[in-house]
Amino acid sequence: MSDENVTKRMGQLLRKGAALLITACPKCNTPLLRLKDGTMYCAKCDKQVIEQQTTPSTIQEGASGDILNQLATKVLIILEEYTRSLPKKPHPEEIRTFAAVVKDLVEILRGIRALQS
Ligand SMILES: [Zn+2]
Repeated sequence: MSDENVTKRMGQLLRKGAALLITACPKCNTPLLRLKDGTMYCAKCDKQVIEQQTTPSTIQEGASGDILNQLATKVLIILEEYTRSLPKKPHPEEIRTFAAVVKDLVEILRGIRALQS
């Protein structure tokens, strides 16, 4: 799946009530989504990801890691708030803006993950 399609798919799922997780896909490093049924899903691999033992709350290790994690959390909060602020039936223009914002934020998260790995 191309990056553009991945972003589009993530945007669709977020609008449907999926939550963007701080956990990244172990295979491709894309931030995972938690679907409404509770499963974790990677939009890039297009498959369900089984939850690992490492939980987001246990990533408080090392000072530089902390800053990166805080940054990642901040980005996720912005994304979550932005998703919530969208009307139920957004205009095409709003959807385009939303997709662009999601794409940018996912890129940032990927960059953070790359630094951490
Ligand atoms: Zn993946």
